[in-house]
Amino acid sequence: MNFSERPAARMNLVGGRLCLDFVNTVGGWNPDPARGKNDPFAAVARADKLNDYFDLLAWSLHTELLDADEAQALAREAGRREKEAAATLRRAAALRGAIYRICAAVIHGARPRAYDLDLLNQELNVAHGRVRLGVGEENFVWEWTDTKNALDRMLWRIADSAAEMLTTDDLTRLRGCPGKDCGWLFLDVSKNSRRQWCDMQACGNLAKVRRFRQRQSS
Ligand SMILES: [Zn+2]
Repeated sequence: MNFSERPAARMNLVGGRLCLDFVNTVGGWNPDPARGKNDPFAAVARADKLNDYFDLLAWSLHTELLDADEAQALAREAGRREKEAAATLRRAAALRGAIYRICAAVIHGARPRAYDLDLLNQELNVAHGRVRLGVGEENFVWEWTDTKNALDRMLWRIADSAAEMLTTDDLTRLRGCPGKDCGWLFLDVSKNSRRQWCDMQACGNLAKVRRFRQRQSS
């Protein structure tokens, strides 16, 4: 299967953390006008790059969660286990929404909803059930068990990445891009902590052009 033409395999990875790049597989997290601009839970996701299980594989390959052989093996497996693949995609979308809403709550200084935290915890339980202690070169190492044919193996790493970020990163640096129809999340690790856009080339320049046009017309 050729994954490279799928949008999920070509997207910008600008989140700074795996879990944020996963959230950004939706093209626009937009405030829901019906529920007010400042409600962190009111986002409407648009332009989804994960439309089938193979998109999830394409993204996993793009982010190097899987290598080419692993992605092809899982693609064959998904062909045989269609229902399970579809269920994995649904779980992925639910996890993505939960991570987004937890981050949006953090950004807005609100308390995350119990439902979203429960959902992330459920996925963490699955992930932690797949971890075992192995023998490394000097120290022992954590390794993932039974990964080869597990259709949901990328979800373990995404949930793990979210937990790692939420427990260890400076969350005052978590931001949502204000670009029109964007809303992508990123962790601002710039020295002066002034990164505003997901990507200067994309949203930053568009905003500049828009301001320029507004000045011209007024
Ligand atoms: Zn943006």
